[in-house]
Formats: sequence, C-alpha cells, structure tokens
Amino acid sequence: MRYARQTVLADLGQEGQAAFAEAKVLIVGVGGLGSPLALYLAAAGVGCLGLVDADRVSLSNLQRQILFQTPDIGQTKVTIAKNNLEALNPDVRCVLHPVFLDNQNAEDIAKDYEIIVDASDNFETKYLLNDLCVKLNRPLVYGSILRFKGQASVFWAERGPCYRCLFPRLPREAIPNCAEAGVLGALAGVIGSIQALEVMKLILLMKDRLPVHHETLLGRLLSFDAATMTQTINRLPKDPDCPVCSRAREDIVLPELDLSCALETEAVPNLARDWQNYRWIDVREQGEWDQGRVPNALHWPLSKLNQGLIPEKISGPTVIYCQSGVRSRQALKRLKAEDFVAVLHYPEGFGGWVGPVERGK
Ligand SMILES: [Zn+2]
Repeated sequence: MRYARQTVLADLGQEGQAAFAEAKVLIVGVGGLGSPLALYLAAAGVGCLGLVDADRVSLSNLQRQILFQTPDIGQTKVTIAKNNLEALNPDVRCVLHPVFLDNQNAEDIAKDYEIIVDASDNFETKYLLNDLCVKLNRPLVYGSILRFKGQASVFWAERGPCYRCLFPRLPREAIPNCAEAGVLGALAGVIGSIQALEVMKLILLMKDRLPVHHETLLGRLLSFDAATMTQTINRLPKDPDCPVCSRAREDIVLPELDLSCALETEAVPNLARDWQNYRWIDVREQGEWDQGRVPNALHWPLSKLNQGLIPEKISGPTVIYCQSGVRSRQALKRLKAEDFVAVLHYPEGFGGWVGPVERGK
C-alpha cells in the first residue's frame, strides 16, 4: 500500500517499483538540494541511499535544508538525515559517508553506487564528481542553484556530454556560493525535486524500463528562473576535444581539491560555544564592523589584506570570520601563504553567529 499511488502508474508498475528497491544512489551533499532529493527518493522506495557530507547542522541551514529541525543544530548532518529518512521509510537503507569527497576517497566511496547525484554547493566538488563519473562510467545527476535561478542536467559521457564538455575548467575567479549570494529555500526544493525525478527515470532507463515517451535530461540543460517562472531547455553538444571525456577512462586523473578550510573547521566544530578560547579576526569592512562584531575581535578588513597589508604575526588559536564565510576563506588562504599557523575560518560567518555581540565604533 505504501507505493500504491506510484505503482498504479502504468509507466512504473510493480516492476518499476522493484527496480527502485534494488537501486543504489549516492547523494553528494546533504543540504539544500540533498534534503528534498533524499526525502523524495526515500519516500519512493529507492533501496539504498549513500549520503556524503561532513558538515554539522547550523542555524542558517534550516531556511532550506528541510531534512533538519531546530533541535538538530550541532549534530552531524548525515546521522540526522539517516534517522529521518529511515523513519520515513524503513524499506530504505542509508549508508553514511561523513567525509568531504576528495580525489583520495571518491572512487572508493562511489564504486558501489549506480547513479551519482551532485547536490554539492561548490565548483571544486562539481568538477571532481564529473571526472569521477566519467572514469567510473556512472550517470551524474547535476543540480545547482544561485539567487533565483537553478539548473539541472544529466551527464553521462558514454551516452552524451559531460560537465566539462560545457565548462572545461574550474573558473579562476571566485564565484559566489549561496552563503554569499543568497538563495530561496523553495528554489532548492524545485531543483532537488527535479533531480529526484531524473534519478527515478535513470533507474528505469538502466533497467531498460523507461517508457519510450519519457526523456531524461541526458544531454539537455534545464534552466529555471523563479523570479519570472520561466523554464528553458538547451541541448548540450558533446565536445570531441573535451579534456576529460575524450580520454580513455583509465587515464583520467581526479583533480585535487582545496578543502583545507573545511577540514579544519570540522575538526573544531564548536567554535560558537568555545568562542572565548580563540582570538577572533573580523575581515569585514568598517560599516559592517560598526554594526556589531564578536567581542574583543581584531579588525583586519579583507580590502587591506588584499593590498598586502599583512598584520604582525599573532599567537594562539585564531578564527577569521566575515559575514557569510566567503571572504574569511579568502583571508585564510592569504594568511596561510604568509605562514600564519593555527588559523581557522568560521564558515557560518557573522550572519550565523549566535554568541554575544559587541557594538559601536
Ligand atoms: Zn566531456
């Protein structure tokens, strides 16, 4: 009875449902996209869901990451996700990978899954996932969101283009992420749900059960604009000179990721609680600083750091913060290059700060 509303669909039926139950899907990123996606796949009875995410739930996640609730703040995301998904549907088994995906662990984690879903929020991971999927010959269900716009596609080099056929290389200049540019939670719901639909169609396709009048987003890019409620679909050509999918699979070398910032903050997850044990450095500009800051913080605006005005070395464990975690990450790279040690950045930024605030000039 649980699946009655979908097995009654002639295009799915009991056999399609059996294919769902056997499927193994890896979801990389249990956040804004990963939440609706995982909820719908679990509810539909997709048998095995791998969940990759090293983060903990924070207050500013709750606006869009609907797998989590306020009492979950501070808990490991994948653990809460597993509890909620398996409570939603005990037929589903969640396999937890509480790590950041990198070129060392990616193949080992992904090889047991048939379909990989990109629900990540950063370009480095998107490129890694693309190359991984080409190498392992797996379909990649792609999604991304920023401000009011979202995109989705399916990349599968054996049957169509890969992500690098479109965008051969990681952009050199920093592209804002959702923390900096903002996003509406419901948009994550739209794109995450589209990704869930594509996963279900791919499961049927891989079992030769996809009805002929259905079509996946393989080789097509769907762009959705929530501000105007318009949707466009563009055909994506395969690039015969693509730097990745034109090569033999065994020759593909996975790119190295710079996740040093993320790994270090994970090792110190309770910065907000233990804030008094650290020296805090605010890299925001004067106007932001005046409106409120972490008590006793030092003020080193990023604009000054970027002009090469590097302050004296400081001792003891230090945390850099900005408003949303983007500038602090840049500042961290800058200071590491100047041999500052024991420096972390605070990915939540002052926007997610729940501790005491000092105001005034
Ligand atoms: Zn390609």
